[in-house]
Amino acid sequence: MPNIKKLASQTSVNYDFHSHTHFSDGALSPKELVMRAIDKGVNLLAITDHDSISGLQQAHTCKAKNDLSLDLINGIELSANSDFCDIHIVGLGIDTGSNQLNQLVKEQKIKRWERAENINKKLKKSGIDNILELIKEDHVDVITRSHFAQKIIKLGFAKDNKQVFKRFLGRKGKAKAQNNWESLENCIRVIQEAGGLAVLAHPTRYALSNRKLSYLIEEFKIEGGDGIEVSYPSLNPDQASWLEMHRAKNDLLASAGSDFHYPDLKWSDLGRFREVKKDIPHVLDQLLLNL
Ligand code: AMP
Ligand code: MN
Ligand code: MN
Ligand code: MN
Repeated sequence: MPNIKKLASQTSVNYDFHSHTHFSDGALSPKELVMRAIDKGVNLLAITDHDSISGLQQAHTCKAKNDLSLDLINGIELSANSDFCDIHIVGLGIDTGSNQLNQLVKEQKIKRWERAENINKKLKKSGIDNILELIKEDHVDVITRSHFAQKIIKLGFAKDNKQVFKRFLGRKGKAKAQNNWESLENCIRVIQEAGGLAVLAHPTRYALSNRKLSYLIEEFKIEGGDGIEVSYPSLNPDQASWLEMHRAKNDLLASAGSDFHYPDLKWSDLGRFREVKKDIPHVLDQLLLNL
């Protein structure tokens, strides 16, 4: 199999640095995700499950067994607490053997189950019973609000994701529960001590004003963050230019990815995001060096 480092000089690297498997809230197994990535023309994939590295080994095994023409970057998407709101930090190129990372993942997983109990209690008060019991039947490892969303929709209490987050799970929803994630600075530190790059995920999805978002990006840089996602589905050209301006101003590396979760959401399929300009500093350059 040709290594991507050689490929990079010959053809373009079709990367996707943000994707999920069923080890968090994605629909596909690591093997299915890898196969779909190849099918979609992606040849460098980072699997970035929410607060989990459990799916990475299966992806590597699948690649080795089938001699696949795709390289893998070990990734994670950590939930973190910032001065402005809860945020997501993508870690890229991490060593999965890192003790600190494994410890953090263990703690975040416990926090997620504690929060799930709270969400469940609030749902019960709103007349929606037994959701957590239903989720547990699926042997979920890292529990997310998406797991709640799917069951609530299935039971007919909301018609789609938008409605379920508005009514129940979002910031003003009836079953909104407090998060107690690790701090932004600790998440960055743990990712970097595991040899990875810390990237601020999908900045425009935090529903912050431009002013607050620019402060968040500054804080991320001051705390030692490496990069920022400047391209992902749903980002319009104005938002993309705004992000690129703030990336450059804060001297951060660019990153990009689809944030793939489900095959039926065509707008966020693997590899499907606007191409990042070639001449700007990119996490890709660093990650290729370490492959
Ligand atoms: P959690 O990390 O458990 O709080 O869950 C966050 C996940 O829920 C995100 O990664 C998305 O997959 C999903 N999500 C959050 N907000 C929304 C929304 N407004 N609409 C659809 N999905 C959402
Ligand atoms: Mn998700
Ligand atoms: Mn996210
Ligand atoms: Mn994600």
